Amino acid sequence: MAWCMVATWPFSLAGLEQAARQLQAGSSALEAAIAVARRVERDPEVDSVGLGGIPNLDGIVELDAAVMDGRDLSIGAVAALQNCISPVLVADRIRTSTAHQLLVGSGAEKLAAAMGLERTCLLTDKSLKTWQEQKAALAARQSIPVGHDTVGIAALDLNGDLAAVTSTSGIAMKLAGRVGDSPLAGSGFYADNDVGAAAATGLGEEIMKGCLCYEAVALMRSGLEPQTAAEQAIRQLHRRLARTRGSVGEMALVCVDRQGRIGAAANHASFQYAAAAPGQDPAVRPAPQVS
Ligand code: ASP
Repeated sequence: MAWCMVATWPFSLAGLEQAARQLQAGSSALEAAIAVARRVERDPEVDSVGLGGIPNLDGIVELDAAVMDGRDLSIGAVAALQNCISPVLVADRIRTSTAHQLLVGSGAEKLAAAMGLERTCLLTDKSLKTWQEQKAALAARQSIPVGHDTVGIAALDLNGDLAAVTSTSGIAMKLAGRVGDSPLAGSGFYADNDVGAAAATGLGEEIMKGCLCYEAVALMRSGLEPQTAAEQAIRQLHRRLARTRGSVGEMALVCVDRQGRIGAAANHASFQYAAAAPGQDPAVRPAPQVS
C-alpha cells in the first residue's frame, strides 16, 4: 500500500516533513493532515492562517477550517471563528462529537471554550501593522494586495484511507462574517476513499462557483489521473468564468488519488506546493499553470 501527502504553499513544508515520517510509521491520513494544519496555524510568520492571520475589515481575525475523512465522508468545519489558535481542532471535534457539520462565529467559539481551548488574541504586531497600512491604503483609494493563502492538505495513508484538511484567515479586508471556500465541502476540500482527496487555495468567491475540489475528485472518479484532473478542474472553471466576466481571480488545488498519485494546478504562475511520497523526499514544487 502507498502513502502520500500534498499541501498548499511552501509554508507547509516543515509540517509535511514531519507528517511524512508519521505516515511512513503508520499514522492515519487524517491525523497527519491535521498535524500539518496545526503547525501552520501556530506559526506567527504565516500571515494567512491562524495566529498572525489577516484580520477582516474591522481588524478582527476570523478563521475558517475544515476536516474531511474519506472513510465515511464525515466532515467538520468552522467559519468566522475568532480567538482560537486551532480552528482545525474545533472542526474535527464537530466532525466526531456533534450531529452537525459546520458551526460559525459565536457557536464555534463556544465549542472551542467547551473543549478547553484557550482564548487567544490572534493579532500580532506584524498583522496589526499590515492591517493599519491596508486600511490607510483603502482610505486613500489605493489598491491593496488580495493577501490570501490557505493551508490545504490532501493525504493517503498506508491503510488506504484518505483525508482533506484546510485552515485559513481568508482574504484581506474581508467584511466581518465573510466565509470563503475553505470550510465548504466540495469547494475548498473533498475526500472519498473510493477515489481521492483534494484541497484548494485562492479566491474563495471564484472557487465556490465551480465546487472546485468536488469537481477534481469527480474527474478522478471518471478515470483521470490526479495531475490531469487538477489541470482540467482548474481549466474548465477558469474558462467558464472568463467567458462571462472580464477577469478571473486566482485559484489553485492539490490532490491525491487512492493509488498514491499526486496532482496540482493553478490558473496563475505563483502557486507552489509541498509533496511527499515513498521514494520522493518532501519538497516544494511549482504547479503547472493552466487557463
Ligand atoms: N480560499 C481562501 C478564501 O477565499 C483564501 C486562500 O486560499 O487564499 O478564504
